[in-house]
Amino acid sequence: MTVTMPTTTTTPDRSRRLAVTREGGRMIAEYWDELFTARERGKQIVWYNGGALNPIFQAAGLAWCHGEAFAARLAAQQLEGPAQLAGAEYGYNAELCSYSRTHLGCAVLTLQGDEGGSTGVVGMHDQAELASRLPRPDFFVNNYAGCSTGQQWDEISYRVFDKEVPIFNISHPFLWGNKPDAGYLAGEEWESASRYVRDQLVDLIAWLEERSGNRFDWDLLRESMTYIKRAAELRREGLELCKAKPAPATFWDWISCVAPINFLPGDQRLVDYFQAVKDEIQDRIDRGISGVENERYRMYFDGIMNWNKLGFLSRKFAEHGVAVLAGRYIQNAFWQEPQLIDTDDPLLGMAQHYLLCPTNHGTKTLDYLTLRDCAEYDVDGIVFHSTRTCRAFTGPQRLLARSAQNNLGIPSIFFEGDVADASFYKEEILESRLTAMLEAIDVKRAQAS
Ligand code: SF4
Repeated sequence: MTVTMPTTTTTPDRSRRLAVTREGGRMIAEYWDELFTARERGKQIVWYNGGALNPIFQAAGLAWCHGEAFAARLAAQQLEGPAQLAGAEYGYNAELCSYSRTHLGCAVLTLQGDEGGSTGVVGMHDQAELASRLPRPDFFVNNYAGCSTGQQWDEISYRVFDKEVPIFNISHPFLWGNKPDAGYLAGEEWESASRYVRDQLVDLIAWLEERSGNRFDWDLLRESMTYIKRAAELRREGLELCKAKPAPATFWDWISCVAPINFLPGDQRLVDYFQAVKDEIQDRIDRGISGVENERYRMYFDGIMNWNKLGFLSRKFAEHGVAVLAGRYIQNAFWQEPQLIDTDDPLLGMAQHYLLCPTNHGTKTLDYLTLRDCAEYDVDGIVFHSTRTCRAFTGPQRLLARSAQNNLGIPSIFFEGDVADASFYKEEILESRLTAMLEAIDVKRAQAS
């Protein structure tokens, strides 16, 4: 008798992710471990959302927890469930932004874990060790631009903590871009909004000094912003190198670099990290190594990252020979205009970056940025991640798709997913639409040849 062994088919991984990002992962893990033990070291802790205020907190002598970052980390490690369940039991609907739902769930758990003790350690130890270690806040600061959910997020956290934790809200004008002189980084609207936010940062610093009892260290702010500016320049230079054909690294590599640039302390280690990222990319160009095996298509990706699916999506696109190269979430966020930062007097440039949140622009500017990046990276199409609970990002996507088609002849597809809730992701939809778009691109190429 002949016995036929079952064959297992495994799809080879054609993505070639940068090795250096593992060092970024180590830095991030160390950062969170430090935060979890901050109270034992006598630090006061601030919870904040939105733009990267961490240099101000660093100079104010505080430990900081960025709400989206913590929610994203839980999702990336598939540990968001207990916090989201706690949020749902408290009454937060599943259609609420999954970043805020996760973080608000953590706040609820923090309070529950606080019963009978003063450490503020989150409960549910048996299910989610990481979620259980977020220390309770001494301050809330909200720094959200362009999204009403984001702007209310800390306000709701403040209520969860019975309005007993001081809160500071920074108000950001939406950059409509409708005035005749308005343009990207230009015009009176831009100038006046920049000054308006800068003045609030001055107030925030005084507020933190008064409530924390810590003297604000202006020299430390200038120093950390010098490091951040240099890291941001290296990041931009690395992104520039990725315009090469084939591309030496992809959007997914840059997603792995988001956390370091977004909230790690400004210091030499941050600069060394982005120098190493750029060096590895340059080395790949020199040796002819591409970020995707046999690059056949180049894509733009619009939408906030689906943190549950980072590795999965990078393999999926590579499997089709697709190099995803650029996206609103990478090119147009995270200290993306370092030339704006004056390291001797950094508050204005910082305020401007907070205003430059990619959800804080009118369609005219978003259109300009998207078409610019699609053209510069010479992409064949756009993949829109219809981020289910993030209306701020998805709102203008149909307009952008139409504009790319009309102005550049670039097709696009939409698929549904979410920032930190895996249940919204629909694999069949992405697979079938992606395949159809690639076939259409093949037909167009054949007709053109
Ligand atoms: S921009 Fe999106 S992810 Fe951020 S708070 Fe608003 S809804 Fe949530």
